[in-house]
Amino acid sequence: ALHGSAKEDILESLYNQFTIDDQRLFKITQTFLSEISDGLSSYGRPMAMIPTFVNGVPDGSETGTFLALDLGGTNLRVCEVTLLGDKTFSLRQQKYKVSEALKTGEVTTLFDYLADSVDAFLTDTPSQDYDSHVSHADEDSSYVPLALTFSFPVEQSALDSGVLLTWTKGFSAKNAIGKDVVKLLQDAFDRKHIHVKCVALVNDTVGALLSRAYTSGGCILGAIFGTGTNGAYVEDVAKITKLSQNPTVAAGGEMIVNTEWGAFNNSRSALPTTPYDNKLDRESINPRFQAFEKFISGMYLGEITRNVILSLIDAAPQPLLFRGRSSVPLNKQWGLDTAVLSEIEEAWEGLGRFSPPEQGSPEAQKGEKLRRIQGILAHRLELSPPDISLADADIVRQVCNLIASRAARMSATAVAAILVHTGRARLWDRGEQSSVGLKDEGKRIGVGVDGSLVEFYPNFQTKLRASLRALVGPEVESRVDIGMAKDGSGAGAALCALVAQKQS
Ligand code: ADP
Repeated sequence: ALHGSAKEDILESLYNQFTIDDQRLFKITQTFLSEISDGLSSYGRPMAMIPTFVNGVPDGSETGTFLALDLGGTNLRVCEVTLLGDKTFSLRQQKYKVSEALKTGEVTTLFDYLADSVDAFLTDTPSQDYDSHVSHADEDSSYVPLALTFSFPVEQSALDSGVLLTWTKGFSAKNAIGKDVVKLLQDAFDRKHIHVKCVALVNDTVGALLSRAYTSGGCILGAIFGTGTNGAYVEDVAKITKLSQNPTVAAGGEMIVNTEWGAFNNSRSALPTTPYDNKLDRESINPRFQAFEKFISGMYLGEITRNVILSLIDAAPQPLLFRGRSSVPLNKQWGLDTAVLSEIEEAWEGLGRFSPPEQGSPEAQKGEKLRRIQGILAHRLELSPPDISLADADIVRQVCNLIASRAARMSATAVAAILVHTGRARLWDRGEQSSVGLKDEGKRIGVGVDGSLVEFYPNFQTKLRASLRALVGPEVESRVDIGMAKDGSGAGAALCALVAQKQS
């Protein structure tokens, strides 16, 4: 009996620590709004609010063929994109692995690898008619135009230049901070006599925004929930007050801003931090940075869950999971992939390849689902099956659910903050809601999203939407169209290369 109640107490304590109520979501959103304003007026703020020099979004009529190179997370991708001008595009791509050695070695070695990958792609695949008006100079006309999707915080000074502010997501290549990443890439092409010209530097969030606008005809926010999290939105130039001294920027009009919201509230004063979050942060390669991202994204949810599971295995006076036994993956930092959480929740929900259990009493069906989770735990975490009770499986799936739900709810604060900041919503006080005077009153509001978490994690989007509804009210929420920005980093990059040509 003692054992049973200890379990209930600890589950209740976890529930209390990981559940954030609507009041807390409001507070976070309010802090978000002030950090957005702060970043728009000054450089060097936690939320960098980076001007991208892309003035507006496409409408689907754009055409051309471009190369795109995408570095920003788990894989490196090279792709060739043809914009067909009818809201569709075709794309051929090749993925290349980025080894730990490349992520943490000399930056020139990393960029040599990028250039070699592009070279391999061009060699292995039949060459296309690339738009050669990349440059007006004749000797340049044989260069293939390429846009670099580089999904790390970069302070851009033009469409085709920008210096790396800091690495995130496990990258730490040496001698890179403060360097112009377009120049690093172009130097690598030139050293190797590869006839490619990098014409644009794109963040993946900007890519998501542009590609969603291209395929759907309108979009105001591009957001990533993958290895990391970040968003880019369409801003009035007049509101980017830190640009007011910049002579190259015309006053008026619009510009896409890359928020770098992964760094929102690095002080963590507004974030619902638990000891498990603190442990993750302390052991990360960037303690006290990317605070928001560490609550939300794919790189971290598995690790928070691993920390919780270990604390339950180690609980005293009695272990509360797996008879006190751990395993090699569970003992290793990053040993629990967020994809496993996803799989566990799918099994519980009867989704994907886990079709609903056979007919039977609710108890029997629950037992069948828990047996599936047992199987996942044995297989993915290399736990010994006799150590995994059905009750253990039940606890683990609840822990996964708590951590992923917190992530989805917190993600909504970022979306709500952009809607409120751009005048499309007001923070909802639960009274009468009127959209009178709001920007785009009565119209659809397009949001393009990308990343494995939002694409594959069961109910992530549903939970995000429910929290968004609590924050901005049902009227506005019902007008928000959240859609996948598929291949944002490819098609979006191509669109950016096109913008570069038009602006040159
Ligand atoms: P990136 O952001 O690097 O471009 P992804 O969007 O694929 O790439 O995100 C990769 C991250 O998503 C990894 O951290 C991984 O743990 C997580 N992930 C992969 N598959 C799934 C899944 N099915 N459900 C939830 N998370 C996943």
